[in-house]
Amino acid sequence: MTDSELERLLALSDPAAIAALYDDAYRVKMECIGKCVSIRGLIEISNICRKNCYYCGIRSGNGKVARFRISREEILETALWAHRHRFASLVLQSGEVASEAFTSFIEEIVREICARTGNGMGITLSLGEQTRETYRRWRDAGATRYLLRIEASDPELYRRLHPADHSYEARTECLHMLRELDYQVGSGVMIGLPGQTIRHLVKDLRFFQAYDIDMIGMGPYIPHEDTPLGAGMTLTEEYRKHQLELGLKMIACARLLLRDVNIASTTALQALDPKGRELGLLAGANVIMPNLTDTAYRSGYRLYAGKPGLDESSERSLEAMSRSVESAGETILWGARGDSRHYFRRHEK
Ligand code: SAH
Ligand code: SF4
Repeated sequence: MTDSELERLLALSDPAAIAALYDDAYRVKMECIGKCVSIRGLIEISNICRKNCYYCGIRSGNGKVARFRISREEILETALWAHRHRFASLVLQSGEVASEAFTSFIEEIVREICARTGNGMGITLSLGEQTRETYRRWRDAGATRYLLRIEASDPELYRRLHPADHSYEARTECLHMLRELDYQVGSGVMIGLPGQTIRHLVKDLRFFQAYDIDMIGMGPYIPHEDTPLGAGMTLTEEYRKHQLELGLKMIACARLLLRDVNIASTTALQALDPKGRELGLLAGANVIMPNLTDTAYRSGYRLYAGKPGLDESSERSLEAMSRSVESAGETILWGARGDSRHYFRRHEK
């Protein structure tokens, strides 16, 4: 696919042409992956963050947020609950913390989850930028995947979204380190950012290709009222519709271009439309990540406005997820890790 072809697809406005794009992407998903969905249980373990990204609700500069960190016992309890409920894949996500205490906390938890589930859990970490040594320790403890979004692959746009002490180069260097340490590497961007053009989005897709990314986790940008980027923005119906559509078009284009990678249908889609996750699956995504975080903590992890399921128990989240996936005509791969095929194909070469 050429850049101008990708640009044309991302700019489509005719509803029939957009529907045809989603159908094409869905066909490629069926060919490369099947009519099935992998699931990961998401645990948001802490909202403490040393970064101050201009778009994010839990940025360090947001004094309105009460900070929490879930205890080792509670994380373990949730992980075992997930294992009993036939999850074979977990994502541990949090704000960015760099300390020996945090590194060893994660290291021990990963080790313990692996041991207590007979290595039955594929563990993904999404804990921001860390040193090579930290990534290595977590890999040795048993984590096999890492999600680190580049957020915006254009260095100039990246610079506009972050304070001066946040570095684009440091972030790409982390992606290289993760690859060298043989993680399945996930990345992604926010879609529909202020100042972002269709050209930027094409560049994002090319970035995933150039970095040979195994898993894509990207979603629409949703303004948060207590952030520099989101303050004063109102989420009109029209805006929501636009963000949702652009997010779905990006999923479809990523599927057409990258074919066998794992692509998540992210919660931000669901925040814009109650059916957003199913729409993501029908536009070519093959992964969903139900939130298993204990309800007591959920409202503390509000990255953007209108995050869904804040007061819903994991049991309820799971039921809702199963129903929504079945309604989209897809089968959930319970008990399967759902590793990235792309990762294994690279290893076969
Ligand atoms: N601290 C880690 C992981 C948690 S943040 C990190 O930054 O890598 C997880 C993701 O939330 C970020 O990568 C970002 O893309 C997304 N996010 C933050 N604020 C958002 C917003 N306002 N709208 C949509 N996504 C947002
Ligand atoms: Fe922290 Fe991640 Fe939010 Fe940036 S996006 S402020 S690193 S939690």
